[in-house]
Amino acid sequence: MSLGSPLIRYWYNPSSDMVGDTVEAFLQEMAGPTLIHIPGRDRSRKRAICTLLHGNEPSGTRGIFRFLKEGIEPAVDLLCFIGSVRTALHEPMFFYRHLPEDKDLNRCFKAPFESDQGRLAKAILDILQDMNPEALIDIHNTSGMGPCFAVSMKQDPAHEALTSLFTDRMLVTGLKLGALFEYSERNVPTVTIECGGAQDPHADNIAYEGIRRYATAEDVLTPVPADWDLEVLREPVRLELQADASITYSEAEDVYADITLPPDVEHHNFGRINPDVPLGWVKPASWDKLIMNTPGGVDVKDKVLRLEGNRLYPAQALKLFMITTNATIAKSDCLFYAVTDDGSHLE
Ligand SMILES: [Zn+2]
Repeated sequence: MSLGSPLIRYWYNPSSDMVGDTVEAFLQEMAGPTLIHIPGRDRSRKRAICTLLHGNEPSGTRGIFRFLKEGIEPAVDLLCFIGSVRTALHEPMFFYRHLPEDKDLNRCFKAPFESDQGRLAKAILDILQDMNPEALIDIHNTSGMGPCFAVSMKQDPAHEALTSLFTDRMLVTGLKLGALFEYSERNVPTVTIECGGAQDPHADNIAYEGIRRYATAEDVLTPVPADWDLEVLREPVRLELQADASITYSEAEDVYADITLPPDVEHHNFGRINPDVPLGWVKPASWDKLIMNTPGGVDVKDKVLRLEGNRLYPAQALKLFMITTNATIAKSDCLFYAVTDDGSHLE
């Protein structure tokens, strides 16, 4: 069996005293991208976890650290990929999603794998292909506050079962951004888990409890009971900003910004928002700097958002999530995701 790649350290079966006394020491011991291989009771099967693709999202790493400290034997072999270790170690620790000169690693799981992050993504994909785990979980934190949810390309019993180990909310999207969960296209059930805010201790617990269930259950792909109440949000669209757009977070409109959102806008995460609830302010001349297309490229902005004077409202009852209050992420990635509250299609 190939142990993969010079880009990724392979660390077989570390004992609890080898991983350090703190998460910081654990990261320093790894020093760079690492694959930790924990042998299980059934050596014929493997499951994979990936985390820390974003350096400012610590819950998955903390969960794996705690799992290793407790010395629990998994049901099957567990492969734990810890991605952006150097980014997380960069002072202040767990601060950078990716370093300013680097690409976002979780947008690099697609060809051409040309940047350093692209080569690392390719190395992770090659090892996964080699080792052929029966499932893959990718653990993240959201940039703002909000509850835990899963992101999946598919809604089928296996993906629902993986989701149910962590949360009862599942987002299904065909949007292809080069994120790792798109690995489920290779017929390995894969979900991303967004555990909640990076500063929220509850998110650390969700990650740890889910990892323990994922690692120790005999079967993680058995369908959940029919009466299990899974909230499924299908085909979200993203609100993106043109590169030259400016965004401010403020209680009142900033006349110099193209778009102003209130600092507490993330309180809308996952709640129903009626069309009469103001979301923020947009200068009418800047309306075209807001972009909202379906994965197929159809412009649906006018079905989702409406401008009245300079006040921004939902065009119909919506659910928004992954709302960010970080202007850098809002500009480089997106402001939020939206689905219709009644689940109807936007196209
Ligand atoms: Zn992330």
